[in-house]
Amino acid sequence: MIKRDVENIFRKGNNFLLASHLNPDGDAVGSLLGLGLTLRELGKNVTITSPHPVPRTFSFLPGYELIQEPGNLNSLTFDVGVVLDCTEVERTGKETEGLLKNCNTLLNIDHHVSNTNFGNLNLVDTDAAATGELIFEILEEMGVPITPEIATNLYVAIVTDTGSFQHQNTTARCHRNAASLLGLGAAHARAYQLLYEERSLKSMRLLEKCLRTLSVSEDGLVAWMAVPQKYLIETGCGIEECEDLVNYPKSISGVEVGILFKQVSNNEVKVSFRSKSYVDVNSLAASFGGGGHERAAGCTVHGTLKDVERRVLAATVNFLLDAKGATST
Ligand code: AMP
Ligand code: MN
Ligand code: MN
Repeated sequence: MIKRDVENIFRKGNNFLLASHLNPDGDAVGSLLGLGLTLRELGKNVTITSPHPVPRTFSFLPGYELIQEPGNLNSLTFDVGVVLDCTEVERTGKETEGLLKNCNTLLNIDHHVSNTNFGNLNLVDTDAAATGELIFEILEEMGVPITPEIATNLYVAIVTDTGSFQHQNTTARCHRNAASLLGLGAAHARAYQLLYEERSLKSMRLLEKCLRTLSVSEDGLVAWMAVPQKYLIETGCGIEECEDLVNYPKSISGVEVGILFKQVSNNEVKVSFRSKSYVDVNSLAASFGGGGHERAAGCTVHGTLKDVERRVLAATVNFLLDAKGATST
């Protein structure tokens, strides 16, 4: 039913503003461009914005050059704002939030359990592997032409959010949608190569340094790693080059929760949580003002790196105790 309403808005709207979250990932970018290119094909005026620069890794995606900084858009007005892959409107960034507030209709399309239903219309499907998957299903139902360029963007959204179909959110449904996208001409081999086989040497050097910080709790259930800012400076890496590092602590045998601490500034740390089978890291991240999914979540915590590590690890240990208590009763 809601999907029908979304379709109506896509058909009737004229001036669209498409936005997603801070530090955009593959699902954010793929969804923005997949939907943006389609709406353009339908003859709409479409503005696509990102609060942070989109990582160069995604520069091969068709339409990449259409993504604009919100600071350049103040003179424009939009009838429909579409927020993709974003738990709350604040995560689009201050400037974009202002632009979205002036839209007549605010559409929220997402798959995070922690979504706050901030739109006039909210299509939040927590069973979807990626927001790009939801976009694909809507476009397919609308019967609009899906070009190979659009298909590549939506395929990349699914591939990146499922960790190349390895994470627990991988479903028969998302494999079927990915298969349809391949049938429509998604450039899967090129995407794989450009996403996963074009690592910079400096990011390998960063990995080498960060691995030396790898620690495991006494009971072996929690493992963590840190990216102190000085490592970024010494290797010349940007914060976006830490994307997959959280998988190293998580991948250790017996570990249930993997954590990565990325030092953004002297007083700010971005924390990523991943769990293997039973810990709801969305709730854990929520206790620090963040959110995400049951098996992948994040938050930003203020304090020194050491202080944030100490607080987050203490909370994680307590959380695990509660989770174990709950499963044994
Ligand atoms: P990350 O650890 O940054 O890769 O994020 C894992 C998942 O949690 C992604 O789906 C993010 O969109 C979500 N997430 C990360 N940080 C936050 C936050 N501060 N608030 C809400 N969701 C978040
Ligand atoms: Mn995302
Ligand atoms: Mn997503």
